[in-house]
Amino acid sequence: MVTPRRSPNRRVVSRPYRWAEYEDDALLKLRLRDLRLRVTGSLVQPDVHALYDELGRRGIDFRPHVWLSEEWFSPDGIPGIAIPFFVAHPRLRQLERRMMGDVDGGSSLWRLRLLRHEAGHALDTAYGLRKRTDWRRIFGPSSARYPGTYTPRPSSRRHVLHLGHWYAQSHPTEDFAETFAVWLQPKARWRRDYAEWPGAIEKLEFVNSLMDEIAGSAPHVRDRGSIEPLSESDKTLGEHYRRKRARYDRIERRYDAWLKGDFATRPARPRGVQASRFIREIEPQLRRLLVRRARLHPYLVDHAIATISRRVEQLDLVLRDSRRDSKRHVVRLHERVVLDVLRRNQERFTL
Ligand SMILES: [Zn+2]
Repeated sequence: MVTPRRSPNRRVVSRPYRWAEYEDDALLKLRLRDLRLRVTGSLVQPDVHALYDELGRRGIDFRPHVWLSEEWFSPDGIPGIAIPFFVAHPRLRQLERRMMGDVDGGSSLWRLRLLRHEAGHALDTAYGLRKRTDWRRIFGPSSARYPGTYTPRPSSRRHVLHLGHWYAQSHPTEDFAETFAVWLQPKARWRRDYAEWPGAIEKLEFVNSLMDEIAGSAPHVRDRGSIEPLSESDKTLGEHYRRKRARYDRIERRYDAWLKGDFATRPARPRGVQASRFIREIEPQLRRLLVRRARLHPYLVDHAIATISRRVEQLDLVLRDSRRDSKRHVVRLHERVVLDVLRRNQERFTL
């Protein structure tokens, strides 16, 4: 029997929904539109107001409109923010955690980080910022294609760190959204935090003066439309999760070249340490590094570890270098695989 999560200290603000008492099987049969879920009165409304307050305190008149959908995103051409339904109600958060192992935006702190990032995209759209010459000089051409893969440089001092996995390095518009998010945080200590990061501070100072310029001015683009709103989706929750999990699962043999670059084959090193055994040994540390330091999604991390372990075993690969160097290669390899999965799924997948 599934019981809705209740905290004695916190009032559940959600409207009573009959499905909140359903067990998982029954809930998964519902269509997304049948949830009849709305932002107003939901658990995310206070976060949206917090975002609006932050914008107001910076003198920005623009308030991106929000709607519920399946993922976090801000569509091209529409200056608004889609919020995934699963953060809006405790019962749906519980289901998300069971299906995916984690809730992206499960804590208020993290939801605000995501909202600030998406607000950066929405503001960019609303004021046509990416078309400006000075914007392009600082961040690069927004017309650049999202790369199929990118190899982040963890030591870079040219990009801020906000959502993790060095996301700002992936594309000029992400770089802007991340920089804006850091700038928008209340009691922003960005001047101090990034004092030693010349490239990043230049971007932050640029955003700072750009926002001064925008303060008090009305946005050019006022489209209040919504893309893929929950209220129009005939997909069932079961279908939604089948597809979502399949996207995480779609790692094939495409990494063989990378694996063979980091490890040796058995014939080349007949007495080498088995790569799969080595990964098993360092797995707890590897997992910690990837989830905490690089802030990668635990489900993706587990999946990458399982996939790589399985594949190195099938290929009977062995260590080529010292254990110390191998450990570095293994961490980097997992990061590359996870990032590749994220990038191939485009902006929509991660934000
Ligand atoms: Zn983004």
